Amino acid sequence: MSSRTERACLVCGIVRTFNAFCEQGCPNCDSLLSLQNSEENVHACTSPSFEGLVALSEPEKSWVARWLRIDGFQPGTYAVKVNGRLPEEIIQSLDAQGVKYRPRDGSVQD
Ligand SMILES: [Zn+2]
Repeated sequence: MSSRTERACLVCGIVRTFNAFCEQGCPNCDSLLSLQNSEENVHACTSPSFEGLVALSEPEKSWVARWLRIDGFQPGTYAVKVNGRLPEEIIQSLDAQGVKYRPRDGSVQD
């Protein structure tokens, strides 16, 4: 597995390498998705297909963050659009924790 293989989190859109997701999890969503140390979960909850990268250094102050709805997220590189969907059982588990999943593939319009 190449360490250059980048993937985007399907929930928050942050872009990291597959290895970084496996080793450190998602800095925003790991308490929900448990990506750390689980290649299976990283495969299920992140996508290798994404578009439009934006770098966020101060998410609270950035209009881009507001537009992407990532206020309060960790600084990093985020994808504007992430292709793919979370597995149904993970969507249900998020729902049970009071988190409404908002797909980032462009299928949901405001
Ligand atoms: Zn995430």
